[in-house]
Amino acid sequence: MKTEKIGIIGAMKSETEGLFAAMQNAAWETVSGMHVGTGTLDGKEVVVVTSGIGKVFAAMAAEMLILRYGVTALLNTGVAGGLSPDLTVCDAVVATDVVQHDMNTTALGDPRGFISGVGLVKIPTDKRLTDVLYEAAVAEGIHTVKGTVASGDIFVADKKVKKDIRGRFGAVACEMEGASIGQVAHVNGVPFTVLRTISDGGDGMEFDIFMQMAAERSVTLTRHFLSLL
Ligand code: SAH
Repeated sequence: MKTEKIGIIGAMKSETEGLFAAMQNAAWETVSGMHVGTGTLDGKEVVVVTSGIGKVFAAMAAEMLILRYGVTALLNTGVAGGLSPDLTVCDAVVATDVVQHDMNTTALGDPRGFISGVGLVKIPTDKRLTDVLYEAAVAEGIHTVKGTVASGDIFVADKKVKKDIRGRFGAVACEMEGASIGQVAHVNGVPFTVLRTISDGGDGMEFDIFMQMAAERSVTLTRHFLSLL
């Protein structure tokens, strides 16, 4: 059996620096402007990347991890806006599936979010990875919700947009990378999942205040996940 090598993508430095700092036998590279660390973390072989914000950078990072580094699984980790009333700042979300809420070919008769070529609106995450993530979050005593994570190239800070994404897709959290990583993983046949901690309520204000705290929590959870895997 191929040794597991986990590719971990965080969009922002604050979401990856705690992982970089804890890595052992680390080697560093800059690829397409992205900081990449290869080494071991909590007993697992990992490649960690700070991708940058949004679906394009995230997709680039995912494809790079698969083709250049040969990762056998992908985890997207970081912060998100909470859409479920059951979520408050620093709670966790584990994705059962992901959707690109801004993918829109409805004028041609497709459902909103439909990914032409893939033939799906929602891409399911890998059950084993998602179950282990949930187990890690529960073990940390963090209130955690499993559900759909919606991604798009928009920082959601408007009540109407938030309501639309929640209503249309039943999403529990919104962010800007997870579903593009999901699409890349899906077409390459690589298992993936998404972990997000809540930095704001999808209505703006709190992001600057809570982002760092939420990001540190996502690092803690990611490390616990690796130790259980
Ligand atoms: N110029 C800022 C942009 C941050 S965008 C910067 O460089 O720091 C917000 C990031 O946090 C994205 O990576 C996204 O995945 C996540 N995020 C947190 N809350 C969000 C929200 N309410 N809507 C969309 N993305 C959110």
